[in-house]
Amino acid sequence: MRNTFITLIAPDLDESAAQRAARESEKYLISNGYVSDSMTNCVLDSALGYPPGPRFSELFTEPPCSFGLTFNGVEVRATTIPGFHENGQDGFDVFCPSCGARADMASWGRALDGPYFDVTRTLVCPACKREERLDRYIYRPYVGFARFWITLWNTPPLREDRLHELSDAAAASLRIVLGTR
Ligand SMILES: [Zn+2]
Repeated sequence: MRNTFITLIAPDLDESAAQRAARESEKYLISNGYVSDSMTNCVLDSALGYPPGPRFSELFTEPPCSFGLTFNGVEVRATTIPGFHENGQDGFDVFCPSCGARADMASWGRALDGPYFDVTRTLVCPACKREERLDRYIYRPYVGFARFWITLWNTPPLREDRLHELSDAAAASLRIVLGTR
């Protein structure tokens, strides 16, 4: 069975804002009882995550179904270098922000070269020949680069009001990456 995930990323935060966003969103999730504060191996990653708390289901538009799923926790992270947050097996296309032409994925992959983003890495559009930073390209469906992220494993869609509360807590504009792994 495949695992699905919702990742919320804040692409515009610097290092200290990312650290603060992680602390404040952890505080929001724990103090409201959405997650438990004892971290366990409940996320599909090497890192530990927060398992569901007594009010976990109130985060979502419908009740979560954890039957048969090993990973159903929440990961909250901040890193010094922006990570690339992709959507696993679902895949995405990349388009030039200037002319809208589709990027060559082999060239794009060589430009990225790893799970982290280096702002000096750029890509030349095969159509209009403009050189642009990778984070300024257009990604469909949305994937992106960020120092701060929250990943929820195998859950229904997030409630709109909870997303706003989380954004307020993190003092960040959160964007949604949906994926499968
Ligand atoms: Zn172009």
